[in-house]
Amino acid sequence: MAHDKRKSGRPWQRLRRTMLAAEPLCRLCMAKHGRVTVAVEIDHEVPLAKGGNDDPANLRPLCADCHRDATRAQFGYRPKPRISLDGWPME
Ligand SMILES: [Zn+2]
Repeated sequence: MAHDKRKSGRPWQRLRRTMLAAEPLCRLCMAKHGRVTVAVEIDHEVPLAKGGNDDPANLRPLCADCHRDATRAQFGYRPKPRISLDGWPME
């Protein structure tokens, strides 16, 4: 009983599917641009690394672009310009 080795991880994929089925559109696109975009990711509004949890209140469906931007904002790093081998920025 002391050895409860349930390390199979969170049932995240199932939760993710359930969330996307319930709300299949990107919440940020809608809120920011009034744009309808298909959501493909479930984002933690407060990241797990910062004490967030898998509670549906902390989750929101996002499209890939918004998810990337949100993650960037949450973890506070700026996109670095990528420099190609011949010395020119790639983007
Ligand atoms: Zn979006």
